[in-house]
Amino acid sequence: MTTAIDKDALKRRYAEERDKRLRADGNAQYLRLEGQLSHYAEDPYTPFVEREPVHDHVTVAFIGAGFAGLVTGARLREAGIDDVRLVEKGGDVGGTWYWNRYPGAQCDTASMVYMPLLEETGHMPSEKYAHAPEILEHCQRIARHYDLYDHALFHTEVTALEWHDDRCAWLVRTNQGDEFTATFLAMGTGPLHVPKLPGIPGIEDFRGHSFHTSRWDYDYTGGSPDGDLMDGLADKRVGIIGTGATSVQCVPHLARSAAELVVFQRTPSSVDVRANHPIDPDWFAEIATPGWQKRWLENFTANQTGAMADEDLVQDGWTDLARRMRSRVLSLPPEEMTAEGMMAALEDADFEKMEEIRARVDAVVEDPATAQKLKAWYRQLCKRPCFHDEYLQAFNRPNVRLVDTDGRGVDRITERGVVVGEVEHELDCLIYASGFEVGSAYTERAGYDPVGRDGVRLSEYWANGMRTLHGIHVHGFPNLFIVQPTQGANLISNVPHNLTESGTTIAAIVRHALDTGASRVEVTEEAEQAWIELLRTGPGRGVIGSPDCTPGYYNNEGQEPPPHARDNVGYPHGAMAYFAYLDDWRTSGRFKGLTFD
Ligand code: NDP
Repeated sequence: MTTAIDKDALKRRYAEERDKRLRADGNAQYLRLEGQLSHYAEDPYTPFVEREPVHDHVTVAFIGAGFAGLVTGARLREAGIDDVRLVEKGGDVGGTWYWNRYPGAQCDTASMVYMPLLEETGHMPSEKYAHAPEILEHCQRIARHYDLYDHALFHTEVTALEWHDDRCAWLVRTNQGDEFTATFLAMGTGPLHVPKLPGIPGIEDFRGHSFHTSRWDYDYTGGSPDGDLMDGLADKRVGIIGTGATSVQCVPHLARSAAELVVFQRTPSSVDVRANHPIDPDWFAEIATPGWQKRWLENFTANQTGAMADEDLVQDGWTDLARRMRSRVLSLPPEEMTAEGMMAALEDADFEKMEEIRARVDAVVEDPATAQKLKAWYRQLCKRPCFHDEYLQAFNRPNVRLVDTDGRGVDRITERGVVVGEVEHELDCLIYASGFEVGSAYTERAGYDPVGRDGVRLSEYWANGMRTLHGIHVHGFPNLFIVQPTQGANLISNVPHNLTESGTTIAAIVRHALDTGASRVEVTEEAEQAWIELLRTGPGRGVIGSPDCTPGYYNNEGQEPPPHARDNVGYPHGAMAYFAYLDDWRTSGRFKGLTFD
């Protein structure tokens, strides 16, 4: 098959498509849900309940009750820490799974490795790729199992965080008037928690109904997160802007429910086979022997990151791509086993994979012109790979229309609908599947800026790039932990694996501090610097984040990364090696690089 690929022609096509999509305004093209747009951010799922502000002290406060807060909270509870307080802007636990209840929402990484703490909570996922309601329920299960509801504060946003050295505690203030202290503070706010809208002229003029996919309005659409038919749309002309991973999952449901569906596309997603299926309880009982989830996690990570693994337990699109790349490199003759030869082999494997994905569009989509427009012309990891068996098929329905903007995006929004070129598409309902703010600095998205020792703000300390040990500890910010993948394993195909490892590590550190009577835990300046220098020896971000890619949030919309993002990389020896390293680091009990006093 590879012999038929004209690589030069493909490279030219990729570059042309990328250039069409480049814009001078980069991330500034998007709008925050503020001012007149703030109603888009409201929580449609849980009514707000007034409560008295809290003024107390807890051993650990955790900002965010998504997977990061839940797994860290769970490990802290296992380590005997009873008062862990989750502070969460949503009305319940779940984080991204609290907000993203759009029809068809589902994990894209196999449940067996994506859903954390399955073994600890005794849950068997119902499907290879579980749907959102089951994942949200699992979040609630974790919170109940580990009593994390006891001290939690919901519908509460942290507004200020200050380290008080005299008290060896963090002072936490919130938008609900809370003012409490915590000996340890952890932050796991997630990379995709601030929804954004496209900065399309006229966006405030639309007189029909509109909402962002992470605030799905079931009161208007009817139906439910379980995927029931949305009967409220039966007589409606519905438009959806965006064709990323979210849109790919909800379009089939809209297509079934709406009288008319118009999908506005700027860049097509690559949509590979999903092949979801129920999990057979007999099979599960056989494989779920003690330690099974760790084995599966490690096997997935090994396969996905190209490390050696004979077996592929998960067998999905992620591992398929990585195994192909590895076998392509391993089959190189010795004289081509150079850095350049390997890069070319990886590119060949990618060309081959993307040709298959494009051929799938032709095989599925009946109208050749529509099929042509749905083909993705970039390397697979340039944008978030998607997997679905009903998305492309939806375009065969007579009530579904693709409006491709040829990389320009929608021109204008009017009172009546959406304008692309000379055509105004009249709509009753407009849904923004326009994603989340990514390129901004951590503290801008968090909505607060921690003030550490000597009054230094985290934004100041990180002005020229994130500085941490393991992505977790920051010098000058004692007793503070950050739970996220960057500067750690940076395993994007399965983020929860990163979070569970961080959670386990943090619990071990807190336990050690309490056992030894230490009031302050802090990374030394030298250890932090050494970690940054080690990170800089790595290969950087590879295809993900490459300026050669079509613009998107993976590569800062095709622009130079801002100074604050320069060291947003992972452990140079890969995710597997990182997890092994971190395990040794924490189980040694020495926590090299940290001081406890
Ligand atoms: P994305 O940022 O991936 O997609 C936003 C979409 O809006 C893109 O198609 C973008 O086009 C389009 N867009 C933006 N501005 C305009 C405009 N002016 N005119 C027309 N179109 C426009 O957001 P998603 O919510 O889809 O996904 C965000 C991330 O969330 C994913 O990448 C993934 O990491 C995660 N996710 C994971 C899922 C899972 O695991 N199951 C499911 C859903 C999401 P363009 O591409 O040209 O920028």
